[in-house]
Amino acid sequence: MRPLIAGNWKMHGTLASARELAAGVAAGAAPAADLLVCPPFLHLSAVAEALVGSAVALGAQDCHAQPKGAHTGDVSAPMLADLGARFVILGHSERRADHGESDAVVLAKTGAALAAGLTPVVCVGESEAQRLAGEAEAVVAAQLAGSLPEGFASAGGVVAYEPVWAIGTGRTPTEADIAAMHARIRQELEGRFGSAGGTLRILYGGSVKPGNAKAILALPHVDGALVGGASLVAGDFLGIAAAV
Ligand code: PGA
Repeated sequence: MRPLIAGNWKMHGTLASARELAAGVAAGAAPAADLLVCPPFLHLSAVAEALVGSAVALGAQDCHAQPKGAHTGDVSAPMLADLGARFVILGHSERRADHGESDAVVLAKTGAALAAGLTPVVCVGESEAQRLAGEAEAVVAAQLAGSLPEGFASAGGVVAYEPVWAIGTGRTPTEADIAAMHARIRQELEGRFGSAGGTLRILYGGSVKPGNAKAILALPHVDGALVGGASLVAGDFLGIAAAV
């Protein structure tokens, strides 16, 4: 399966720096991977323009569960699709923590994304305490069961495994632990969706850098990466894509 290298720009940048970063990514070559960049909402439109004519896809970092309505400050999935976004990251651990997003909320948002024709990138991952308690796989399995709606597999949804303690810390699980978790996620997807679950991309996220990308991306059932910090420098992001 063709790997997906996704950049999560989080709450970083200015209009000018977003344009520059998008142009830098668009100018690079990644013959062996699909590329996706997910800027903040305010920069989506400018980045869409900067990506015209390139193969780099555009995504957002969240959407509302309703297609429209009285929801001050929120952005709907149809609005994102209208702007040219094809993907949306949902259930990132920072949203689960900062905004109290439960699996039920992520489930509703993922359904909204599918209804709007967007490809959801649903994030799951355990805390450090949960890993130390030996609960990591059970936690992730429960998040998958609670966050993925019917129709997720037929629409080609993407799952991102991001251990919370590895995000932005420079620490990663061992290769054996990443491989074990991705095998478990594959098993859960196939158990739920049958053979379609075997075709879905499972990304690893959490301190992926050009230096560790090759080893991580070579692991079985690692079908790409969700990259935070290193996606803010075009050369680093493209370096990760070159490691597939
Ligand atoms: P990081 O973030 O690459 O900076 O660890 C990953 C993410 O949160 O998606």
